[in-house]
Amino acid sequence: MAVKEFKAESKRLLEMMINSIYTQREIFLRELISNASDAIDKIYYKALTDDKLVFDKENYYIKVTADKDARTLTISDTGIGMTQEELETNLGVIAKSGSLAFKKENELKDGHNIIGQFGVGFYSAFMVADEVTVVSRALGSDQAYKWHSKGADGYTIEPCEKEAVGTEITMKIKENTEDDNYDEFLQEYRLKAIIKKYSDFIRYPVKMDVKVH
Ligand code: ADP
Ligand code: MG
Repeated sequence: MAVKEFKAESKRLLEMMINSIYTQREIFLRELISNASDAIDKIYYKALTDDKLVFDKENYYIKVTADKDARTLTISDTGIGMTQEELETNLGVIAKSGSLAFKKENELKDGHNIIGQFGVGFYSAFMVADEVTVVSRALGSDQAYKWHSKGADGYTIEPCEKEAVGTEITMKIKENTEDDNYDEFLQEYRLKAIIKKYSDFIRYPVKMDVKVH
């Protein structure tokens, strides 16, 4: 499968994320949960004007699943999902908040400040993961697509199966190094604390599922 290159700007932001020395790496979870919440909002607003679409609150939630053995952390949502094109345009290039941060780069000099001052969005996943897979099925479509990237080299998109509409983002959490601990992002109590800290404003339930074995 052909690997597509990120646009130059996206690639630079991505490299900043990958090499981030930022101590508050935990904010990646805030970014992904707020994206999931935005995606559910989009269904909610659509349902207000679309009689065929019923927004039953019970069916809309965000789920965080950690698998210590596989070293994966998954954020899934029952939101509006993304088409193949949307995966391409939304994840292949810097989105709104990302480009805002980028424009300020010259003023702020280093990635540290940029991350502190702006929402950096989806790419912040690469602060804690060396591999990210996004499986998404858009509302109104039977076909799902899988976006996959190991970082700055690029990404691939291919068709896949997904039972329900929504998005599932799986991060392969980095191995610990002498200086950095990443295991914390697979630990239930830490994840709970981070979610509590940043997700007060989230209007949908955030469920947690921890696989130990
Ligand atoms: P922002 O949220 O500021 O637009 P992000 O980098 O966080 O920037 O996300 C980029 C775009 O990718 C979003 O605007 C949205 O269109 C899409 N996206 C990201 N996560 C999801 C998701 N879970 N469900 C649907 N779309 C998403
Ligand atoms: Mg966002």
